Amino acid sequence: MKTLKIAIQKSGRLNEKSVELLKNCGLSFENYKSSLISPVSNFPLEILFLRDDDIPEYVQDGIADLGIVGENVIYETGVEVSFLQKLGFGKCSLKIAIPNNSSIQSLGDLDGKAIATSYPVILEKFLKQNKLKADIRTISGSVEISPGLGMSDAICDLVSTGGTLKSNGLKPFTDVLSSEAVLIGRKGEEDNPLIQELIQRVQSVLRAKE
Ligand code: ATP
Ligand code: ZN
Repeated sequence: MKTLKIAIQKSGRLNEKSVELLKNCGLSFENYKSSLISPVSNFPLEILFLRDDDIPEYVQDGIADLGIVGENVIYETGVEVSFLQKLGFGKCSLKIAIPNNSSIQSLGDLDGKAIATSYPVILEKFLKQNKLKADIRTISGSVEISPGLGMSDAICDLVSTGGTLKSNGLKPFTDVLSSEAVLIGRKGEEDNPLIQELIQRVQSVLRAKE
């Protein structure tokens, strides 16, 4: 049977928990050092270590059969993949936040304002659903500093504890999306017995944690 490939984050917030989950599934492999591919010695599987942003497309295109990535990245890239299992880590929410001294009070006040974000696709959908028109300023990082620089009136960014918002003089205003890490697979491959076996193992690891 064909060796499967699973894509996980190379380094960052999801790497450690993804590796731990796979090890707890009884898979034996080396964590990312310099090689981007690590073979599993006791299962027909290879681990690909990638930037999280690239994982959904690798899975959609069939370069990888499976992936572990935040729901936020899947929605932002708009790929067609199947959601196999929520994994209970990497929890965060995408929120609109405003400066502490902002005059914005209701959703309607966002109309015509500039909102900085790394998630333009998700934000645009949210604005549309709420019949709002705002100027979306797409930036790739350090979104929190943009209101202080006069570049935006609000931001839309991932928040877990809220500490980063606070230290930049911002406060949460409204929730756009809640997210956690999920196991995804290529559409149409769900019945592959090796994939089924892995899903079973993941589910029993998660049950043992309850
Ligand atoms: P990469 O180098 O792989 O592109 P990154 O910098 O885009 O990494 P990380 O900051 O490592 O990404 O975050 C990975 C994922 O962790 C996010 O997409 C999100 O699903 C989740 N996450 C959980 N809490 C937070 C948080 N407070 N801020 C950002 N992401 C979070
Ligand atoms: Zn990323």
